[in-house]
Amino acid sequence: MVDAGIGALRQLRRIHVDSDEIDAVLITHWHFDHYAGLPALFKSRKRTRPLYIYGPNLSIPARLYLIGLLRSTPVYFQAVTENFSKDCGDIHIKTVPTVHDILSLGWVLTEIVPGERSGKRRIVISGDTRPAQAILSAAREADLLVHEATYPDKHANRAYTHEHSTVTEAANLAIKARVGALALTHIGHRYSKLSALKEAEKVFPLVLVPSPLDRICIEAVSDGAARENSGWGHVKIMGNR
Ligand SMILES: [Zn+2]
Ligand SMILES: [Zn+2]
Repeated sequence: MVDAGIGALRQLRRIHVDSDEIDAVLITHWHFDHYAGLPALFKSRKRTRPLYIYGPNLSIPARLYLIGLLRSTPVYFQAVTENFSKDCGDIHIKTVPTVHDILSLGWVLTEIVPGERSGKRRIVISGDTRPAQAILSAAREADLLVHEATYPDKHANRAYTHEHSTVTEAANLAIKARVGALALTHIGHRYSKLSALKEAEKVFPLVLVPSPLDRICIEAVSDGAARENSGWGHVKIMGNR
C-alpha cells in the first residue's frame, strides 16, 4: 500500500481487502493527507502479522499523531532515505528523491518474476512533487507513471509556489520518460478530472484519471516489443471491483 489518506481503511473494506493482508505501507511524505488513515489501519489488524511502514523520517506532527500506535500493534517503522531498496513480497521497492516542501520520496515498484524474464512490470509513484529529474530517470519506459497533478496549467505559479506539479508538467514528464501510461492523481478538489484528462492528452496519448477504488490492469509486455512510442496501450482502467 502506498500512502494512507483519511478513509483508507473504509476504502480497503469496499474492495474486500482485509487489512491483515497488507505487508507494508510505503509513505511518500508526512503530510496529513498521506498518513491520516494509518491509525484506523493499525487498529483494525488482528496482531498476527507484522506491518512494515517505510517512509522518510517522521515529521513532528506525524510523530505526535502516531505516538503510541507504533508500539501498540506489531507495526515496525523504518525511516528510509533516497537510496533505499528492498524486496517486499513479490515486489521490489525502491525510493526516488522528489521535490516538495518537506522531505518526500517517490516509490518505484518492480515486479519480481522467477528467472530473468524481461519486461518486468514497473510502476513509478511520484508522491507530491515538482517535476523532478529523478522521477524522470526512474520512470524511463516504466509501464505506469502515477504522477501528481495538483493544479491545472493556468495555476502554474501556484504549483511552483506550493511545490506541486501541473497537469502539463506531469504529461511532459510522461512523454520524456516514454512511459506506457500516465495516471494523474492528487488533482485539486476544485478542478475537474475531465479537464485534467483533456489538458494532459494534448501532450501525452495515454492518460488515466482513476477514480477511487479503480483497478488498473497492466499487461506484461517484453522489453522493446511495443515501446517505440509513448503510451503503448497495454494499461487500462478496469473500473472498480
Ligand atoms: Zn498531498
Ligand atoms: Zn504534500
